[in-house]
This record gives sequence, structure tokens and C-alpha cells, in this order.
Amino acid sequence: MAALPILLFEDKIMETVEKNSVVVIIGETGSGKSTQLSQILHRRGYTRSGAIAITQPRRVAAVSVSRRVAYEVGVQLGEEVGYAIRFEDRTSDKTCIKYLTDGVLLRESLSNPELDQYSVIILDEAHERSLNTDILLGLMKRLVKLRSSNLKVLITSATLDGVKVSKFFSGCPVVNVPGTLFPVEMLYSSERPKSYFDASFRTALDIHSREPPGDILIFMTGQDDIDKMVSKLEEKIQNLDEGSCMDALVLPLHGTLPPELQVRVFSPAPPDCRRIIVSTNIAETSLTVDGVVYVIDTGYVKQRQYNPSTGMYSLDVVQISRVQADQRAGRAGRTRPGKCYRLYPSIVYHEELLDATVPEIQRSSLAGTVLYLKSLNLPDIDILTFDFLDAPSRESLADALMQLYVIDAIDAAGMITHVGRTMAELPLEPSLSRTLIEADELGCLSQALTVAAVLSAEIALRPIQRNAKDSKSKEQPLQLPDGSRWGDHIQLLQIYESWDRADYDSDWCINHNLQVRSMKFSKDVRKQLSQIMQKISKGPVDVQSSLRHRKGEHDYRSLRKALCKGYGNQLAERMIHHNGFRTLGYRSQLVQVHPSSALETNEDGRLSDYVVYHELISTSRPFMRNVCAVDMAWVMPIMKKLEKMDVYKLSGGLEAAITKPVEHEAHQQANKEINSSGTGDSVERKIQAARERYLARKGKK
Ligand code: ADP
Ligand code: MG
Repeated sequence: MAALPILLFEDKIMETVEKNSVVVIIGETGSGKSTQLSQILHRRGYTRSGAIAITQPRRVAAVSVSRRVAYEVGVQLGEEVGYAIRFEDRTSDKTCIKYLTDGVLLRESLSNPELDQYSVIILDEAHERSLNTDILLGLMKRLVKLRSSNLKVLITSATLDGVKVSKFFSGCPVVNVPGTLFPVEMLYSSERPKSYFDASFRTALDIHSREPPGDILIFMTGQDDIDKMVSKLEEKIQNLDEGSCMDALVLPLHGTLPPELQVRVFSPAPPDCRRIIVSTNIAETSLTVDGVVYVIDTGYVKQRQYNPSTGMYSLDVVQISRVQADQRAGRAGRTRPGKCYRLYPSIVYHEELLDATVPEIQRSSLAGTVLYLKSLNLPDIDILTFDFLDAPSRESLADALMQLYVIDAIDAAGMITHVGRTMAELPLEPSLSRTLIEADELGCLSQALTVAAVLSAEIALRPIQRNAKDSKSKEQPLQLPDGSRWGDHIQLLQIYESWDRADYDSDWCINHNLQVRSMKFSKDVRKQLSQIMQKISKGPVDVQSSLRHRKGEHDYRSLRKALCKGYGNQLAERMIHHNGFRTLGYRSQLVQVHPSSALETNEDGRLSDYVVYHELISTSRPFMRNVCAVDMAWVMPIMKKLEKMDVYKLSGGLEAAITKPVEHEAHQQANKEINSSGTGDSVERKIQAARERYLARKGKK
């Protein structure tokens, strides 16, 4: 095999790294950035003074790339080469090449702000613009000044946004590694297909029956569609006339695929067999699949967006950006000339697609990030003036501050509290970490740990759709506990407790139609969380979760109270005259309990008057997902807090930023458009009022 482009540029890269603390490296996907840079640095002695950290925005990439590198270096995974992702650490004292998610590196910097165990930090896949990588970019800027003599920072990207990043790092050098891409012929559809699923299916079959050998890569938007496509293609291909075309192997590829199934994508096709890989956008730049000659680009991607004015998430299928379309096409020309079938007209590509994807920081809830930055406690870091590559909107920063205030993580003056500091130590979203702390006070920590673990291993309790042909028995799955009417959190707890009583038996999971792997993962997560809580808790912590001998309250009062505290203003009140709930606090709107919820009416046929929810999701209409019934008495203190809240004060010493002239007007505008579906006016008004008060005061001085 020809040497990877990165290896051909080894001397140039090393010369630049030697002379500079920050270097941007731009190279096509598949050029060897993720797998080779770390090995080069290792060979050149950079691991003598510390380990090399390579961040990945995606968990699956951290695992897959480290496995590959361990293989290339010829060591056991977890020894010299290892990985660390949330709730899973496969490193040892020997590890000197460590792949980790950007989130894990952020957490490491909490306990060790100088990150002095590392001699090199590589922020890989910077073009993905993940929220955590963006924050790390800001932190690195500060860190290279502190550790100028013994730290190298490399930022790698597959697309040409190097100039912007270089500017951000006061003009650091950019090394371009030209790829050896073969020409890719573009084939556009004359119009948008009615169903992108059907169009992809037809196109794939068409290529398979007419085109010469070469693998096909189809970009779909999500796991459900991928699974559907895989079985539809398999069925069709089996039924093709024997000898009419070569054999085909259809493979799914997505982030939640078990490792043993991912591996198949990296092994070459059997002789006389074409591979058809059906993937999410993970194959766009994160994972390189060799052998692809035909790409089918549906033009869509599933994107999670947060709207700070409504507190609502939506998981939307949106158009990809032009950069993404180019990346997808590029996958076809890695080994020889290829073809890219764009299932949209060329005018869409040229005129409709955005130039680049909106960075995650501008479409995420920032409560966790703001809490994290506040807990860093660095005198020269001020959240609202934090040096972002692209700043988030003031609205989403204000939203984060308000959420943190309601759950006592910051005080009215915007200072981080003792509770807030403790929360930051837990690898959980703020609502769940707050719940654990409250549960510890109320004596129901063990239950809360279970709920937090199961919710964090989110996929855990989604029942598997069993095909008739797969299921060995014709029996119906056994009934799961029902949450005793209190809702989904209690149901999750009861399910886990039943499994515990069954001695964590795998058959129990199978009989109840639950994924064994996911259940085991939640058990592991629970153990890790309890180990962290052991350091924090006032009493002994039930690490092994031996639930059998403890008798619980039958109405789960303490746990529900702790959840109410943790969720803060993720709170809704039942509307007497409407068929639904109204969310409370500063973002009032009508919502419904998700139909899949375990929440039930009481003896009088009435739903609880108040619920807390884990998430607001906007699909066909706004739904609350994972709800828990709570008492009015617990709601009142939260309402009081919300009434007295003043965003201006919350921003505390940070008012300068809220009132600072907006530097990123264009991005603010873009962000506005994304978020314009809700009622953010009141927040905006408050900020505006704060700004005016501030300016007035300044004028008086
Ligand atoms: P980049 O990060 O620049 O996109 P990578 O370092 O991920 O590139 O990949 C470089 C090459 O290494 C790929 O072209 C592929 O041939 C090979 N490769 C990467 N990961 C694997 C893997 N898990 N299994 C087999 N080959 C791999
Ligand atoms: Mg890579």
C-alpha cells in the first residue's frame, strides 16, 4: 500500500512542530492524521517527557482509531496505546498514546488544569466544531502560554478552515498535507426525490447491477433508517437472479454499533463481492472506510439543536453544508476514480446549502459548559468574555446562567457555589448531578444513582425490536414494572431493581426484551458514579447496589423530591382546561407528556398537577420525555426563586460581556434564525434592560 500522505510530510511537519508550540495541520480524510501523527511524535521522542493526548469528538472514533494504532504499533490495546471515553477507561501506567473524547480531556483539566501529564495535545477533527473541542481551543490558547517550554498543541482538520484557527492562535503555522484524491464524477438528481430512502435504495441497486466492482457508501440520517435500509437491500439482493450480478455484503455503520460489528467495515470485501456500507455522517470524516468507489449522498444529516428560549431540543433532519457534501463526495475518490450520486439538483448544492455547518456551541444547551468553566476558577477566565472561536449567543449564555442559578450551582451574584463545585466533579449533566447531591441529603442516594446511571446509558432501556425470524421463542416478553404511576424515572429504577433481584441475569433482560449489553453498561456506570459519590457523600455509598435488603418508601417520596430539586425549572403544571401541561418559569409554553411515558393517572383518574421532565423534545409537537410526578410543596421554592431572578445580577462580574458590543454579529444573526421559532423575547428583553441599566450606571460614573 502506498504511504499515507501524512507520512510523506513527516519531516516538514516535525520541523514545524519543533519550532512552534501550536501547529494547524490540514489533510484530507484518510491522509493519516488520526492514526499516524501520534506515532510519528512517539518515534521522535515526544513521549519521553509525557504522554500524547489525541482528542476525538466521537466516542466510537476514539475506540476505533486507538484499536487501529495499537495494532499498527504492535501492542495490546490499553497498554502503550489506549483510550478513555466517558465511563470507560482503557489506559494504564504504560499508556503514552492516549485517544480520548474531547469531553474527557475537558474533565481531566478540571482536576489538573495544566494537563502536565501530556507533552503533546492533538485536537483532532477540529472541523467537526464540537462544543467541547471549541472550549478546548480556548483553553489551549491559555495553556500554551503557561507551558510554552514543554507543551505542543496540534490542531488537525480535514477541511480548509485553517486560516481562522491560525488567526485564533495569533498566526500559528498551518501545514497543508495535499491528499492524493482521484477525480470524482458528480451525478446530480434533476429534482429532490419524494422519499430520500427510496431514492437511495434504487440508486444503490442500480449501481450494484450496472457498475464495475467497487464498494458503495450510502449516507443516511439515523440508525433506524440504516437498519431498515440494510434489511431491505439484503432481502432484495438475495432475490436477484443468480449470476445477474456479483454478490454483495450490506453493512451498517453508526455510533452505537457494537465494536465487533464495527470491525467488519474495516476488513476488505471477500473476493467477487461488493460491499454496500450504510452509514450516518460518521463516515464523512471520523472513520475512513477503504475501498469505496461510489457514494450516495442524500444531502441530509440529523442534527440536535437546542433552543434556549424554549428550553427545547429538536432532533431535526437538516440539509448538510457544502463542506459536508464535498467531504462525502471525497470518500469516493480515495483509491481510484469514483462517482458521487447527489440525490439533489446541482442548484441546491450551489445555492441552497450553507457554506459550513453551524458549530455545536451555537446550537447546544450550555448549562454544563458554563458550570464547567466557572468551576475552573481561573482568574483570567471569564465565561462571557471567554475566548471562543465562535461565540455562542448571549441568549443561550443567559439561559445557562438561569438554569444554574435555579438549581443552586451559582448564587444570585453569579458566583459558583459549594454545590456547584461538587456538581462539576460528576460526569453528568447538571440536572442529574444536582439530583445526586440532593438525594444524598435526603437519604435516597442509592436510588438516585441508579436513575442517573440508567438515564446516562440512555440506550439502555429501549426495547429491542425482535424480528420474527430472530426470536427463538414465540413467547411475549414479560411485563416490566410500571413506575407505580409516578412516571419514567421510577419505572427505570424499578426495572433496574428487578434486574438486581434477579442477580443481574442476562436471561432476565432477554425475557423482558431489554438489551443485555446496555443493561450491563448501566450497571457499570452506576458503579463508577457511586465511586465518585463516595468521595463526596456524607454517608456510606452502596457501590455494589445490593438493593435487596433495603426497604424503600412505596411512594418514592425522597427520590421524587431530589429529582424535583435537580431538574429545577424543567418543571410543568397540568392545565385544567387543556389536554396538557404548561412549562413553568421564564419559558412558559404548552407541552404534552410523551405517549411512551409511564406516568399514569391516580385513583381519581387525574394526572399529577406537577411534573419534572428530563427533556423537552420538539417533534410533531412539543413533548416532555421522561417525566416524574412531584408535589406542589416542592415546586413553590423553585417558583419563588424564578420570580426573584435577575439575569443582570446572575451575570455578576460578567456583565461586561452581556453589555459588550457584539463582535460576532453575523453568527449571532445566524443563531437567531435557528432559534427564532420560540418565545425568547422575555429573555432578550431582560438582557436588553440589563444592558441599559449598566450603560446608564456607567454614564453616571
Ligand atoms: P485521517 O484521520 O486523516 O482521516 P486516518 O488516520 O483515520 O486518517 O486513516 C488513515 C488510513 O488508515 C486510512 O486510509 C485507512 O486505510 C487506515 N485505517 C484507519 N483506521 C483503520 C481501521 N480501524 N482499520 C483498518 N484501517 C484503518
Ligand atoms: Mg481522522
